Amino acid sequence: MCKVISIANQKGGVGKTTTAFNLGIGLASEGQRVLLIDGDPQGNLTMCLGIEKPDELEVTLVDVFERVINEDDMPEGFAVIKARQNVDLIPSNIELSTAELSLANTISRELVMRSYINSIKTKYDFILIDCMPSMGIMTVNAFACSDAVIIPVQAAYLPVKGLQQLIRTINTVQRRLNPSLVIEGILLTMVDARTTIAREISEEVNNAYGKAIRVFPTYIPQSVRVTETTAIAKSIYEHDGNGKAAHAYEELTKEVLRNHGC
Ligand code: ATP
Ligand code: MG
Repeated sequence: MCKVISIANQKGGVGKTTTAFNLGIGLASEGQRVLLIDGDPQGNLTMCLGIEKPDELEVTLVDVFERVINEDDMPEGFAVIKARQNVDLIPSNIELSTAELSLANTISRELVMRSYINSIKTKYDFILIDCMPSMGIMTVNAFACSDAVIIPVQAAYLPVKGLQQLIRTINTVQRRLNPSLVIEGILLTMVDARTTIAREISEEVNNAYGKAIRVFPTYIPQSVRVTETTAIAKSIYEHDGNGKAAHAYEELTKEVLRNHGC
């Protein structure tokens, strides 16, 4: 059974794309068939997978949306790039920003992605959606077709205030569109061992949200080795396989596999 996971936080630069990429590669190296969906017109996940100029791509996620909206045929593998062994990608570029407009006049506009995902689910074990840093209609589409949401939070900031809108949106989607949606957990990223005490932040989240939202026991340390990967389209395992960030993403991969009964 395929698991669909959104990686979301409307705050920018918290490690969503880095997590989608390295968790995806991690799951693939455990033998899982993975589809990564770039849900952000910035195209950062697309670039992580080695596509230097997403804006030059002719077929992207926006074309998938268009075909679903127009009820056109979707050829097998449409818009899918075979990025690596066990890793497929549906890329995005700046054109995705127009999708919000065309969705505005579409019936069941929150369910366009779900309709597509349901048609391809049997081919994958995990589908990860890298959401853009906003709570617009694209992100709601991602939540409406997901089993779970992982929320990366940059640990240097006190997360509780900024999370209220996100959690409200997730709860609304759960009530109205997708009762099986769960928050898989908050993932602390860019944890600076010298200044940030991950446990304190975990406690703060627990105080604010109780048992409803868990914080992943694994957190991702701040590491320049991760920052370096952005420019070179390599996973953290390839760039610094013995480093602490690679180990953390390996641990996260195992936790996600366990959470989903794999
Ligand atoms: P956006 O909201 O713009 O989509 P994002 O939440 O997807 O951003 P990323 O692009 O993953 O965030 O990360 C933002 C920046 O922080 C990138 O330059 C990335 O290389 C860096 N970064 C991510 N994780 C770490 C880490 N653990 N240590 C150091 N730098 C990191
Ligand atoms: Mg991103």
